[in-house]
Amino acid sequence: MSADRGGVRLEVHGTVQGVGYRPFVYRLARTLGVDGTVRNDGGTVVIEAGGAGDALEAMALRLAADAPPRARVAGVSRSALPCVPAPGSGFRVADSVVPSEDAGSRDVPPDFATCPSCVAELFDPADRRFRYPFLNCTDCGPRATIIDELPYDRARTAMRRFPLCARCAREYADPADRRFHAEPVACPACGPRLRWGGLSGEAALASAEAVIVAGGIVALKGLGGYQLVSDASNERAVARLRRRKHRPAKPLAVMVRDLAAARLWAEVDEAEAATLSGPARPIALLRSRGVLAPSVHPAVSELGLFLPTTPLHHLLLRDLDRPLIVTSGNASGEAILISDEEAIARLGGIADGFLAHDRPIRSRYDDSVTRRVAGRDRLVRRARGYAPDPLSLPVPSPTPLLAVGAQLKHTFTLATGSSAVVGPHTGDLEDAATLDAFRATCERLQRLTDVRPEVVVHDLHPGYLSTEHARSLRLPAMAVQHHHAHIASCLAEHRVTRPVVGVAYDGLGLGDDGTLWGGEVLIADLVSYRRFGRFATVPLPGGAAAVRRPVRTAISYLLNAGLDAPSFLGRLDPREVAVVTRMVERGVNSPPTSSAGRLFDAVAALLGVRDDNEYEGQAAVELESAASGAAPPLAWRLVPDAAGLLVYDVAPTLAELIASDEPVGVLSARFHATVAAVTVELCSRARERTGLATVCLSGGVFANRRLTEAVLGQLSARGFATYLNERVPCNDGGISYGQAAVAAARLARG
Ligand code: ZN
Ligand code: ZN
Ligand code: FE
Repeated sequence: MSADRGGVRLEVHGTVQGVGYRPFVYRLARTLGVDGTVRNDGGTVVIEAGGAGDALEAMALRLAADAPPRARVAGVSRSALPCVPAPGSGFRVADSVVPSEDAGSRDVPPDFATCPSCVAELFDPADRRFRYPFLNCTDCGPRATIIDELPYDRARTAMRRFPLCARCAREYADPADRRFHAEPVACPACGPRLRWGGLSGEAALASAEAVIVAGGIVALKGLGGYQLVSDASNERAVARLRRRKHRPAKPLAVMVRDLAAARLWAEVDEAEAATLSGPARPIALLRSRGVLAPSVHPAVSELGLFLPTTPLHHLLLRDLDRPLIVTSGNASGEAILISDEEAIARLGGIADGFLAHDRPIRSRYDDSVTRRVAGRDRLVRRARGYAPDPLSLPVPSPTPLLAVGAQLKHTFTLATGSSAVVGPHTGDLEDAATLDAFRATCERLQRLTDVRPEVVVHDLHPGYLSTEHARSLRLPAMAVQHHHAHIASCLAEHRVTRPVVGVAYDGLGLGDDGTLWGGEVLIADLVSYRRFGRFATVPLPGGAAAVRRPVRTAISYLLNAGLDAPSFLGRLDPREVAVVTRMVERGVNSPPTSSAGRLFDAVAALLGVRDDNEYEGQAAVELESAASGAAPPLAWRLVPDAAGLLVYDVAPTLAELIASDEPVGVLSARFHATVAAVTVELCSRARERTGLATVCLSGGVFANRRLTEAVLGQLSARGFATYLNERVPCNDGGISYGQAAVAAARLARG
């Protein structure tokens, strides 16, 4: 440390653009009496500073320690500055530098919900932005959804078409103002405007609100895509939305004006309250109090609630003062719509009107979904507010790569070095429109992050559109087995590089033996795996047809176990039973599967909880909702198969289940307890054999809170260290990140 005058060039890496970082540096420099400049350069922030040695030292330290709340400083590199700014020359924000070819990786900031200061202005009649639906500041507002190119400057966003008025320009240029260099800054005089048919502004908003009050459906242009909005307290309105959207049963998300309103409809603990009101504002799956319109979440005990994310949502909720259904503007499972033309074409038959505006949406970001399991928030869907914030890889990839994910709840991951950018949830990759959405988002993020993949990573399944897309890229390709990718996603986010016992329970994924897996216990690290145990294998009569109709799977389990269930079979159409029986016995179009998810389906059908899946996982979700109280496990046993794998034989479980006259709630609880006991025993046997005492749980079945908390609790009691996904979903939304982690570890090993 010295008081001698000197100069230094500081380069700050991480999420440092679009988060109020340059204003922060400016204020810091003024406080310390440092001269020079700060600017965005590519994806980094570069500071050229002259001043007293100790002042420069303090500045370098505080760049990370005192960074603004939304910033994430990954590192600060220092070099000498040949030309030191003159003493007393002042400090200023300089023009951004467009990146050169060899710029390093660049982080794109996610969108942030409206901050409390902006909400206060929104409802302050004396403020010039009173009731202005597009107000924002350096702490909040759109980012990822409006950026065209980095560096992040207004000229390279969708705000380019709105020249600042004199008053906004003054705020933007004033270092003392909280809108200093807030790139999307806007006001009623110069910014975007609402539109409803030929109306604009307050008249447009009032018309949309009148439609909602009358029980109609409004298509609303949100932050990362169109949303469908209706009155959640009006049963007929909700039923109409379901009918028109062809979404008979899947729970609908509900937006409420504040935490007090949230507590009217669901149980909200302190941690959940913090998540609900945080800057990402996800939909939180909460325990419902059961008092909303019955069609909101039929047969499911949880309710998805979220708080207003934009000023427009705040205005609607405050004006209407009732809970609103706010759901993605699309057909179920498809990608959310972002273009005005497409929205009108695709949502015209659903919505009674369009509340739109003239700020384009550059990229799709659906609402994120989170759920508290075993005391932690776990993302169920990672999109708005979280993506594309980079995650890290425990083993850095020596080669830039693209991991294309699986099929359902699709995401992709771009990785370079130790950074993994997981793209936002797109939907189920089952049609051309969703594939186009994936490709558009992927190409855009490649350009923004400047990651140019040299290797493409895909699932083993040759029929996934993601695999076909990977093949079409003409890059060196690497296949990663589905359940290995699930376990790797959990290993990677918890930075575990040693081998573990990996429990992967999900719907279906192609195994390396050509059968469909889904109830797997693996011995795995990031590079490789071997199968240790599995659920019993049964034929899946009709493949996808059985996934849609759990009754078929139930018949197959009964046949396989040599069980008769007269009361179950007696309530079915005898022709269906005959057809399915023939398919199973002759092995026609009945691929074998060891899926845990399918066993949950079968039990739901056997207990009369659900015969058909109208959305992925419905039978399992309703089976969990039906369970009540603590109950002992049903009978079960583990038997070795010919290959030496330990197999959960489900025959004793199903035999006891169908013979019992206990209530459905008790039997569901007993079934959950059985799967937990089986899982813990499989892990214990794996530990005896291998000495491994760490367990990673992943796969969509672990969205089941009852099962997951039972397994985690019992494993901990037996001395295991346990991990479960948090920042990426345990469902197939986490597959691309797991694929990237495996590929990076393999490439690093050479
Ligand atoms: Zn704000
Ligand atoms: Zn203005
Ligand atoms: Fe899966």
